[in-house]
Amino acid sequence: MSALTSIFRVQNVFVGTTADNLRVHINAELRIEDSERDVETVEHGHVNSPVTLSMTHSTYKGRKNIERNLESSGAGLEDVARVVTPAPGYTLAEVRELARIGTKWHLNTGRAGCAHMDLPKDTSYDARKGITCPETGYKYGAAWLTEELPSDVYDRFKELASKGEIHPHED
Ligand SMILES: [Zn+2]
Repeated sequence: MSALTSIFRVQNVFVGTTADNLRVHINAELRIEDSERDVETVEHGHVNSPVTLSMTHSTYKGRKNIERNLESSGAGLEDVARVVTPAPGYTLAEVRELARIGTKWHLNTGRAGCAHMDLPKDTSYDARKGITCPETGYKYGAAWLTEELPSDVYDRFKELASKGEIHPHED
């Protein structure tokens, strides 16, 4: 038996505006799978109940953050990195730091590759399938490996994702 527990979640936090006047919001989550089962790490060690970080964005044009003004959304955080005017509560450096953390750690418990692989820049499965670990023979994509989230990254992410206004521009 296992249960997925969200230990931190914010949705639709306004982080800033791009040069072409799009409004960028983020959704951030830290969750833990409460399970007896060990999972394999990218170093081929084993851990129990790792924390998963996830961060996605929703980018809006126009005055309101409503469905018909949605320009793009999902896991790619290019729009967060493109913010030039930070939202209330943030400095530009903090928005860029959030983009960096999200890009590096998004879905850190679902890594297809291990720490020892020399992976090509191309992140598509086709470009990487067949690559094996020089130490254990682990095959790319054979499992979901966990890259353990350091506690300082956990704390900083939670702090940064909590600084903004949630659901602004609704009236
Ligand atoms: Zn390996």
